[in-house]
Amino acid sequence: MKKASFLFEGELNFFLPRIQKHRVIEHPFDWQASIKDMIESLGVPHAEIDLLVVNGQSVDFSYVVQPDDQIQVYPIAHDIQLSNKIALRPPFPGRHTFILDQHLGRLAAYLRMMGFDTLYRNDYHDEELAYVSHHENRILLTRDIGLLKRSLVIYGYYVRETNRQKQLAEITRRFNLQGNVQPFKHCMKCNGLVERVAKETVEHELPEGTSQYYDEFHRCTSCNQVYWKGAHHQRMQALMNQIITM
Ligand SMILES: [Zn+2]
Repeated sequence: MKKASFLFEGELNFFLPRIQKHRVIEHPFDWQASIKDMIESLGVPHAEIDLLVVNGQSVDFSYVVQPDDQIQVYPIAHDIQLSNKIALRPPFPGRHTFILDQHLGRLAAYLRMMGFDTLYRNDYHDEELAYVSHHENRILLTRDIGLLKRSLVIYGYYVRETNRQKQLAEITRRFNLQGNVQPFKHCMKCNGLVERVAKETVEHELPEGTSQYYDEFHRCTSCNQVYWKGAHHQRMQALMNQIITM
């Protein structure tokens, strides 16, 4: 039987069964397949891969695996120097924007709080997530590995952490968001833009006593949610400071 050898580098080992982690995998195959399909059949989603090297040469996802190929697969953050490196996707254009799967509602609220345009609904279907991510150039964050294997997904990442605050720290580190935070720019509830409003315009909507203690108010231009610098705001600000300085 024909076979090719695969070595997955760094954090890509996360996706492999224990017995295959950090070692050369001799992979038998009967029929021709692209390197992308073969890698995904081993468990690693293409969206997490930055560089493919076959017998010392950089290749793209359409490369058809040949018998006895020696294949190295690199994650997004790697420091290998290689001439004639073939990029697997264009660099992410502009400011980071996101779309999140249904398991990541709290993370979505946190990313909005940090000023990142973040789509989230608890009823998105997988096709919709992949489609919107593709057509709006949004990074798809998910806890579903299968979703990151969909061909439409160009920018995607499997969120490893399960604790919400640790997830925020993970995503901040992974996408180097620290320098681009714009606190409270987007509404935590709906992703709408938040703007400063005069106290008189919102006074009648506030819980009793609130207008006595606060003078600065903001309102979401989409859902009309009113924000002020109360205890919740202070907790969120403290969380952001902690994440940014980690
Ligand atoms: Zn809103």
